[in-house]
Amino acid sequence: MNIAAPQTIYLSDYMAPGWLVESVHLTFKLVPESTRVISRIAFTPNPDAPPQPFMLHGEELKLISAAIDGVAVSPDLTATGLTCAVPDGAFIWEAEVEIAPAKNTALEGLYMSNGMYCTQCEAEGFRKITYYPDRPDVMGVFTVRIESDLPVLLSNGNPAAAGAGWAEWHDPWPKPAYLFALVAGDLVAHNDSFTTMEGRDVDLNIWVRAADLDKCAFGMGALKRSMVWDEQVYGRAYDLDVFNIVAVDDFNMGAMENKGLNIFNSSAVLAKQSTSTDADFQRIEAIIAHEYFHNWTGNRITCRDWFQLCLKEGLTVFRDQSFTGDLHGHAVKRIEDALVMRNRQFQEDAGPLAHPVRPESFVEINNFYTVTVYEKGAELVGMLKRLVGDDGYRAALDLYFTRHDGQAATIEDWLTAFTEATGRDLTQFKRWYAQAGTPRLTVTDDFKNGTYRLHIAQQTLATPGQPDKLPLHIPVAVGLLDITGAEVVPTTLLELTEAQQTFTFDGLASKPVPSILRNFSAPVIVERDVTQAEQAFLLTHDTDPFNRWDAGRSLGQAVLLDMIASGGDLDAAYIDGLRAALTDSTLDPAMRALLLAMPSEADLAIALAGQGQIPDPDAIHQTRRKAHRQLAMALANDIPPVLASVQIDAPFAPDADQGGRRALSNSLLALLIWSDNGNAAQAQFDSADNMTQQLAALSILLAHGAGDTAAQAFYDQWHHDRLVLNKWFAVQISAAQPQDAVAVATHLTQHPNFEWKNPNRFRSVIGALTGNQAGFHHADGAGYDFVADWLIKLDPVNPQTTARMVAGFDSMRRWDDARRAKMHSALTRIKDTPGLSRDTSEMVTRLLS
Ligand SMILES: [Zn+2]
Repeated sequence: MNIAAPQTIYLSDYMAPGWLVESVHLTFKLVPESTRVISRIAFTPNPDAPPQPFMLHGEELKLISAAIDGVAVSPDLTATGLTCAVPDGAFIWEAEVEIAPAKNTALEGLYMSNGMYCTQCEAEGFRKITYYPDRPDVMGVFTVRIESDLPVLLSNGNPAAAGAGWAEWHDPWPKPAYLFALVAGDLVAHNDSFTTMEGRDVDLNIWVRAADLDKCAFGMGALKRSMVWDEQVYGRAYDLDVFNIVAVDDFNMGAMENKGLNIFNSSAVLAKQSTSTDADFQRIEAIIAHEYFHNWTGNRITCRDWFQLCLKEGLTVFRDQSFTGDLHGHAVKRIEDALVMRNRQFQEDAGPLAHPVRPESFVEINNFYTVTVYEKGAELVGMLKRLVGDDGYRAALDLYFTRHDGQAATIEDWLTAFTEATGRDLTQFKRWYAQAGTPRLTVTDDFKNGTYRLHIAQQTLATPGQPDKLPLHIPVAVGLLDITGAEVVPTTLLELTEAQQTFTFDGLASKPVPSILRNFSAPVIVERDVTQAEQAFLLTHDTDPFNRWDAGRSLGQAVLLDMIASGGDLDAAYIDGLRAALTDSTLDPAMRALLLAMPSEADLAIALAGQGQIPDPDAIHQTRRKAHRQLAMALANDIPPVLASVQIDAPFAPDADQGGRRALSNSLLALLIWSDNGNAAQAQFDSADNMTQQLAALSILLAHGAGDTAAQAFYDQWHHDRLVLNKWFAVQISAAQPQDAVAVATHLTQHPNFEWKNPNRFRSVIGALTGNQAGFHHADGAGYDFVADWLIKLDPVNPQTTARMVAGFDSMRRWDDARRAKMHSALTRIKDTPGLSRDTSEMVTRLLS
C-alpha cells in the first residue's frame, strides 16, 4: 500500500494536462478480494499544454500488466501513480490492475457495502480503481463492461448490451473521472418515467434492497419535481435515456451526482411517514434536487481544478435552495439558510479553519467540502443575482451554459459570463471568492430637515494567512418604516463598495425606523445600537418576513444575555412579543414556530464571544432552560387553543402546511411538559403515526429525564431499521443533560448495534455529542477525551469521516483557559498518533495553528 507524503497543492501552480483522453474502455471482473480492472484509454497530446512527463495517478493498485499500442511496457511506479515513456503523437494505453473492494473501509474508490459493490470517486477516488489522469479537466467518453454474478449491474450513461453475468454501459457525454460510477448488487427498483421538454423519454429508477422498496415513492416524486423545475426555471433538460439512483448504507457524504447514476447515502433518499421526519422529507427532496441539478452545473460544465469546487457546489446549492423556496415558501427557507450561515459558516470564518470560498492551497481536497465552499458559495451566487437582477441573472446563466458546455471552467469564466451578459463590472465583487472571513457592517444614522442618512462602515477581521482585508462589494437591502409601522421607503438595494459610505433618503416626515439587510441580502454581520423597544417594534411591524423573524431573534438573544449576566428572570416585554406571534393566526404555523424558537446555546456562546466575553457553556444551558420554563408558565393559558387550532384532520402529507403545523405543535409540546409532568408528550409518543411526532415526543421526554420507558419502546419498535436506529442513538445524546452526556454516549458505544465503521452510525453518536454544546464542553474535559479516542480509532479505517469530525473542536478559541488546554491536549494526542492519515493530519494541524 502506498501512502502519499503530505504535500501542499497551490492554485497558482495550475498546469494544463499534457495529454487528453478521447475514449476510455473499462472492464471490471468483480471479486470481493481480487477485482481485476482492465483499461483501454485513447490519449492525444494536448496542444495547449507546456512540456511535461507522461504521468498517471494511481494509489493502492497492484499493476498486473501495461502496454502502449499493443507493446508491453514497464512504467516507473511511484507512491502516487506512474510515469512512462510515450510516443510523440496519439496512442492507446492498456493496463490491468488488481484491487480489493472488500478491504476498502475508507469508502473511496470501489468498495463494498452489505454485499453490494459501489463507488465514490469525487474528489480523487478514481485513482484507487485504475491508473488514470485523475483530474477534473481531463474529460473522456466512457464505455464500461461489468462481469459479475450479481443480478443488477449499473454504470454511467445508457445501457448498451447485457447477458448472463455481464452488462455494458456507454456514456456519450465526456466527463471527468470523478463522475465515474459502478454499482453491482442484489437490488430491486422503484420505477417510473419522465418525458423531457425536448421529447426524450427517460426511464427513472431508484435501486434499493428489497426491504426498502416501500421507502422510494417520495424520492421518485422529488426527482420528477426537480426535472420539471430545471426545465421551467433554467431551461435545462435531462440528456440520457435513463436516470438511476442507488441507495447505499455505507457512504461518507450525503449523495454523489455521477453522470446518470447518482449514488445516495440511504439516509438521503429513503423516506416514509412512519420512519422519516418532516425535516428528513425536506432534506431528501433538496438532496435529490441538488444531485439532479448537478447534471448541468457540475457534469456538463465541470471544474477546471478542485480549487474551483464552489463553481459547481455554490451554484448547485443556490439552485436547490431556490427550488425548495419555490415549492415550500421562500420566507421560511431563507430563515433556515441564514441559520446555517450564522450558526456554522460564520463560526468557521471566525476560527482556525477559516478559508476563502475559493481556497488557494490544500493538502487534502476532501477537507474543503465545507459550509464555506457550499453555503457561502451559494450566498455569492444569490448576491450576484441581486446585483444584476432576475433578467440579467438568466441572461448570464444562458451565456454560461452555451459557452462552456462540455468544458472544465473557472470562477473567472463564470464572472466573465455575468459581465458580458449584463455589462456589470464585477472586479471588486470577485474579492468575495478570495477573501475569507465574515464582513461586519457598523450602521449609524441621523435625521435632519426631512433627510435621513444611513452611515455604513465595513470591516473584515484577519483570518489565517490573510491579515489585511479589502472592502467588498456588498448588496444591502434596506426598507424604512414610520413610527406607526407603515412602510415609507420600500425595499431598496444599496450597494456598499467603500470602507465607509453614507446613503441618503429625502422627503421624510419623521425619523424612520430602518429595516436593514432585508431577506439576509448578504452574508454579513450587522452591528447597530438598537434598543429592545425598537427590536420589539420590528418584531411586530416589519413587512420583510426575514427581518421580522430576525428582530425577534435579536431581542431573544439580548434578553437571554441579560439573564446570563444578571441571573434575573425572563423579560416581560419579550414574553408579550412571543405571545403576540404565537396567537397571530395570520402568520403561518411554520413562521410562528420559528419565531417561538429561542436562540440556540451555540448562538449565545458565539454572541458572548463576539462581545469579548468568555462564555460558560453550563451557565448558558441552565439559563436557557430557566427561560424556557418561565416562558412555558407565562404562556400556559395561550397554548391549548393554539394547539387545538393546528391539529391536522387530513391524511399525513410531508408538505409545508402540515410540516409547519407539526413544527408548531411540537414547540408547544416542549413548553407543556414544564407543567403537565410529560402527560401530553407521552400521549403523543404513544399515539403518533409519523416519525416527526414520535421522535419529537421522545426527545422532549428525554430532555426532562422522563424518557427511559419511551426510549426502550422506540428501540423495540425500530431496532430492525438502520436509519431509524441512527435517530435513536442520536436523540439520547442530544437530549442528555450536560453532566450525563458523555456517560450516555459511552454507554451507547457499548451497545451491540453500535456499528462504528458505518459513517451514519458513527456520526449519530460521536457527532451528536459534539453537537451537545454543554455536554461536549463539560468542565471535566471527558467529552474531549471520549471524542479524541474514537477519532484515533476511526482514522486508519476511514480518514475522510474522521477528518470531518475533527472540526467539532474548531470552537476551541472561544472557551476559558482550562477548557482550551484540555482541547489542545486532546488534539495533540490525535496529531501524535503514529500513521495518522493525510486528511486528519491536515485538519488537526490547522486547528492547532
Ligand atoms: Zn453538490
